[in-house]
Amino acid sequence: MNDTHDFLKKFGLSEKAIELGEKYEKELEERFKKIDETAEYNQLKVIKAMQDNRLSDIHFASSTGYGYNDIGRETLESVYASIFNTEDALVRPQITCGTHALTIALSAILRPGDELLSPVGKPYDTLEGVIGIHPSTGSLAEFGITYRQVNLLPDGGFDYEGIKAAINEKTKLVTIQRSKGYQTRPTLSVERIGELISFIKSIKPGVAVMVDNCYGEFVEKIEPSDVGADMCVGSLIKNPGGGLVASGGYIAGKKEYIEKCAYRLTAPGLGKEVGATLGINQSMFQGLFLAPTVVASALKGAIFAARIFENLGYPCIPNGTEERYDIIQAVTLGSAEKLIAFCGGIQAASPVDSFVVPEGWAMPGYTSDVIMAAGNFIQGSSIELSADGPITEPYAVYFQGGLTWYHAKLGILSALDRVLKL
Ligand SMILES: *Cc1c(COP(=O)(O)O)cnc(C)c1O
Repeated sequence: MNDTHDFLKKFGLSEKAIELGEKYEKELEERFKKIDETAEYNQLKVIKAMQDNRLSDIHFASSTGYGYNDIGRETLESVYASIFNTEDALVRPQITCGTHALTIALSAILRPGDELLSPVGKPYDTLEGVIGIHPSTGSLAEFGITYRQVNLLPDGGFDYEGIKAAINEKTKLVTIQRSKGYQTRPTLSVERIGELISFIKSIKPGVAVMVDNCYGEFVEKIEPSDVGADMCVGSLIKNPGGGLVASGGYIAGKKEYIEKCAYRLTAPGLGKEVGATLGINQSMFQGLFLAPTVVASALKGAIFAARIFENLGYPCIPNGTEERYDIIQAVTLGSAEKLIAFCGGIQAASPVDSFVVPEGWAMPGYTSDVIMAAGNFIQGSSIELSADGPITEPYAVYFQGGLTWYHAKLGILSALDRVLKL
């Protein structure tokens, strides 16, 4: 017996859970090698971007007040533009979350009378209020911006006929969500996003295409902006923050669009020129530097969990063998007890708040209680190991993250152990 095996027992794990983990980890060696290979490529991409932009420790300095001439902030935005292969980028702690970043991009481009199109079905929950799919104060709908949606076909394919019919003279912006989020549709590969963009631009060349890139960054060697997206948008407490960034979001894209986004974020005329960085520049760079390996750790955890749980008979989306294009894993546990046990296991394995017992609560906007587990360094950071699910049929847990593979593994074994003990 090796030392790690014994140490895992100190977390209260049963022999059975530890042995299952060892078995499936062994089986996943080849798969993990492929993930490491992508991580290495992306690590090189990040280092090259930092070198090409002559990153230096002067860029870690802080600014206050208006934040004029913050060369750290400007260099960070150039580094993002290099990585995403775009003309420019807006990367700011003043962007409060992913929804905010997406809202900035939408309202920067769209004007009264314009129409927004989602050709990949319903967007992420929080965007429904932003767009005005259901009435909401301040929504795009209130400003006279209309919305059209074309659902994916039952097999997950694009409804090209429907998309062609939906594009009209008012269509100004197309929004494509890369990750399935908390739906059951497949996550889109960057390659498929590229095919969809080509099709859309063949019908209406001038239309702007925005990709909601949340949870997708660094999962593949290319990003949507490499295949024609005019803007890629995401959150810094997810993949590209590498777990170190305390708050922020990014938009990488064409110069004319980034300029509009900056005018929307700050004020017309001010744009990118203002925005104090308050001491966070260094963590923005360092988190980005770590992000490719952090994403690899999260991916390994997701695949490890899918392998184990599907072999125990629990349906997993994605399953243990298919390709991955984001870091989210869903496991259908089938009972409230198991869902609560799973989340309890993730929480107990956390570095922070391991002694807390998660319970379901009536979260605003949900019809059933929702349980959440996260023992995070950064509040709400979902690149850190975290799990949640509504306590209702089919009792599916959604989990993601893991700053290191070893922590992701411990969390999953701990969740497994508690489910096995029921
Ligand atoms: C997380 C996420 C968002 C934005 O969420 P925030 O919680 O506002 O950061 C948007 N779209 C997708 C697909 C996401 O995963």
